[in-house]
Parts: sequence; structure tokens; C-alpha cells
Amino acid sequence: EEKEGFVGVADTDFAEEERRKKSRLAFEGVRQELGKTYLPFLNGEYVNTTTFVDSLNPSRFSEVVGKIGLLSVEQAEEAMKFAKAAFPAWKKTPVKQRADILRQAGELMEERRAELSAWIVLEVGKPVKEADAEVSEAIDFCLYYAEEMERLDKGVIYDVVGETNRYIYQPKGIAVVISPWNFPLAIACGMTVAALVSGNCTLLKPAETSSVITAKFTEILIEAGIPKGVFQYVPGKGSQVGAYLVNHPDTHVIAFTGSQEVGCRIYAEAAILKPGQKHLKKVIAEMGGKNAIIVDESADLDQAVVGVVQSAFGYSGQKCSACSRVIVLEPIYDAFVERLVEATKSLNIGETELPSTQVGPVIDANSRDRILEYIQKGKEEAKVALELPAPTQGYFIGPVIFSEVPANGVIAQQEIFGPVLAVIRVQDFQEALEVANGTNYALTGGLYSRTPSHIEQAQAEFEVGNLYINRNITGAIVSRQPFGGFKLSGVGSKAGGPDYLLQFLEPRHITENI
Ligand code: NAD
Repeated sequence: EEKEGFVGVADTDFAEEERRKKSRLAFEGVRQELGKTYLPFLNGEYVNTTTFVDSLNPSRFSEVVGKIGLLSVEQAEEAMKFAKAAFPAWKKTPVKQRADILRQAGELMEERRAELSAWIVLEVGKPVKEADAEVSEAIDFCLYYAEEMERLDKGVIYDVVGETNRYIYQPKGIAVVISPWNFPLAIACGMTVAALVSGNCTLLKPAETSSVITAKFTEILIEAGIPKGVFQYVPGKGSQVGAYLVNHPDTHVIAFTGSQEVGCRIYAEAAILKPGQKHLKKVIAEMGGKNAIIVDESADLDQAVVGVVQSAFGYSGQKCSACSRVIVLEPIYDAFVERLVEATKSLNIGETELPSTQVGPVIDANSRDRILEYIQKGKEEAKVALELPAPTQGYFIGPVIFSEVPANGVIAQQEIFGPVLAVIRVQDFQEALEVANGTNYALTGGLYSRTPSHIEQAQAEFEVGNLYINRNITGAIVSRQPFGGFKLSGVGSKAGGPDYLLQFLEPRHITENI
């Protein structure tokens, strides 16, 4: 069945001088605002905290982007009480009204697009063009889930003579959203507005390293008219406040996006019934990937090289959808590696504020050290085909390509989440698919081929949530490429897709004899 209808918003066209100027001005404005304090937002008010953490610009540590007030566990408990108190009225609020708040939030984000992009660039080091696309994605989530909830609210009618039968949806209750730093606006916004529009009172616990952007998102929801207690902003330590809310007996839904380690832990903890708890929790956990692109002997190599470079090194490989393995068939292996290396050398690494920049820094010192360890490991396991230098200030790491990587090697199995690409040589297409499927993950995957039988076989056997044929494997668009994985890449239905909101709802059926 063909899907028609939803059309997302357009990204900024940086080819226009006017747009570039607007972006530059937004950076100037945001720089004036650096270093301010952001507090949690509970029951319609900003509340003070006793501990604070600095959020730094990963390109330039001297810039404190903001100071984040961290919620205590006692305050998290209060937030939970406020959410419970606000739930009955929110549940009864007509869907149209809830959906209109999302639409209003989308409009406000569109008005503040250049400014929000600048905050993303400065807080998480994302190149500005990609930050702009992320703002589009956040807006799309608002518009799409608003429309989706209105569709679901119609329910299903199964009337027969003498009897009405109505299938309807009601909200589950309290939703806890736990978001990652790598799509600090889009993912936090998507999970939050999905929970809200479905009628759940929602607490947003962002990643520590991206809490300024989520504070900006909080401003937007407030301005859009979200009632007090319905949405609360609860920045805090994941292992403390995050874990507390996951384990809370009043939590109904946990929408998590982040690492496999934390996701598995949340899934297990949420399954334990707590004293006084009268329901089982629903867990949505979107986790990591070890995504592969297969390049066969019939592929258009120009296209394949460009697609692999973009997928592997865009945002320094810090996307769950990023390509970290490329599996190349023997007949074209050497030619492909040579061209891949040449193309990677031409990437612009550096100033993330410029629209021409493709590779920026990685998020923080922990990440940098972890990636450097993997690079060291790679040097023991495989051949260095390319190791590019990077700026010395900030947490920059130049792109690294390893060739002749064994399919079961550490750098071919574990998620590195940095600009490191493993190239694996295989003899035939069957082996390529086996290697591609030979990890714990199943998130995205790609194939470059002009052989119909290979394309057909990949569609049937390549075990990934999102398969991309003859294009790059990142940049899923809401309601065009609903996004999410399976195996140890996640549980839950695809974000930006037609099943997503069902996870936040309780279906009920009502029969009346008339
Ligand atoms: P992370 O798992 O370290 O943190 C994610 C969130 O969990 C943060 O808000 C953190 O504070 C919180 N947290 C940490 N410990 C917790 C605990 N014990 N209980 C409750 N919450 C806790 O992940 P990250 O470094 O922020 O993000 C990167 C990871 O996210 C990568 O693995 C990436 O692949 C994955 N990711 C997946 C998707 C997807 O859609 N599948 C999208 C983006 C990122």
C-alpha cells in the first residue's frame, strides 16, 4: 500500500547568501548567551538545584555553553508526584488540543531554526548543515505525531445490528524519556512529543552532555502551551535520576535511546514489579549499531565511494546509523579501497560553524579516549589504509580507514561511535551477507549493486531495520524512512512510522447492546 500525505519541512539552503548570513548572525547571538545557567522545570516552574555541571563546546573547551542544574533524586520523586497529579486532566484533554500544542512547538522551532542549529553546533560539535537537518527532523516529529494521533483517535468501529463495537486508545500514564546526546534535539523531541500527544505526562531526562539544547526545547514546549506537570524537564545523572525514574512504580512507559549497555539494563530493571505497582512497564529501547555497506563487483563505484564516505564520517561517525564496516567483493576490493582513501582525504575537517565543514570533533574526552583505544586495537588487527590528521584543539579525531579487517575482529564487531571505518574483503556475495549479518546488531545496512539477484537476496536476507540500496545509509526522514533496528539494536517500533504512537497507548474495546 502506498503511503501518501505527510510531507516534512525543508532544510535551509546554505547556497543562498541570505541564509548563510542568518546563520552567522544566529551564532553571534548564541555566543552572547553562552555560560548561562539552565534549571530543571517541574510543575510549571524552574527549580533550583544543589549540583551543577558545565556543558562545554567540544571544538573549543574554553567555551562553556551552559551550566546545567542537576536534579536530585528527591526532586525526581516530586516530579513524579506532579506528573501523577496532572495526568487525569491531560488524559481528558481533546486530542486536537494536544496535537495543536505539537504544531505550535513545530512552528516555534521553525522560527528559531538558525538559533537552535547554532546551539546544536556549539554544544555537541555537529556541523551546521547537519544541525539544520536535525531541526527539520524535530519539527517533522511534531507535525507527524500530531497527525498520527488524530488518525488513531478515530478508533475503529465494528458495529453490527443491535450492538455497537468501538475500538479506542487511551494513554498509558507516565512516560519517562531518556535521550542521547548525538541527536540532542530531534531524538529528545521525537520521543517526548510522541508520549505527550498520546496523552501521557512526560519527564524528559536528557544526556548530560546535551542538556542546554533540551533546555531550549523545554522553552519551546512551555511557549507552545504545555500545561504544568504534563511535561517536566529533569536533567540529571543517568545512573542516578535516570535509574530512579526507570525503577519507579508509577512509571508506565520508558522511551530510551542510547547505548546497548544502558538499554539492556533498563529493559531488565523495568521488568521487575515493585511494591504497589499494578501494571507492567512498556520499554522502548533504541540502541547501537555496527552497520555495514556491501559493495559488489557490479556497483557504480563513484556512487559507492561517496555514499560510504558520507555514511561513515558524517558527524564523525557518531550516528547510530553510521557505516562502520564496508564489505567489498574481491574483484573490486583494491580499486575500491584506493578510491575510498582518496575521497576521504578531501573531507573538510574543522570549524563546525561553516556550511562547508563535513567532519567536526567527537563529543567528549571519554569518547575520544575510547575511540583512540579502538584505533590502537585496529593497528594490531588490520592494516591502516588512511589516518588523517585533525585540529589539535578540541576533541578532534581525523578519519581512519582500516583495510584487510578480519570479520570477527574487535573493530569489526564492537560499536566504536567515531570516525573509524573497517574495510573487509570477501570472496562472493553469499559471504558478504554472512559477514554483514555476523554481529549482535541489526540497525541500518546498505548495498551498492547493479545485479538484480543480489538486490533481491539482500532485501530478503540482510538483517537490518533499515536497508538502503544504492544510497547512503544515514539521514532517515520522518514518515519516509521510519527508523529503528532489531536484534541487540533495539526493541520497539520505528520512530517516525505508523506504529510508533501505539507504544504509548492502551487499546480498549467497548461493546454496547442496543
Ligand atoms: P548512553 O547509553 O550512554 O546514554 C543515553 C541516556 O541514558 C543518557 O541520558 C544517560 O544519562 C542515560 N543513562 C545512563 N545510565 C543510565 C541508567 N543506569 N539508567 C537510566 N538512564 C541512564 O548513550 P549516549 O552515549 O548518550 O548515546 C550514544 C549511543 O546511542 C550509541 O550507542 C548510539 O548507537 C545510540 N543511539 C541509538 C539510536 C537509535 O535510534 N537506535 C539513535 C541515537 C543513538
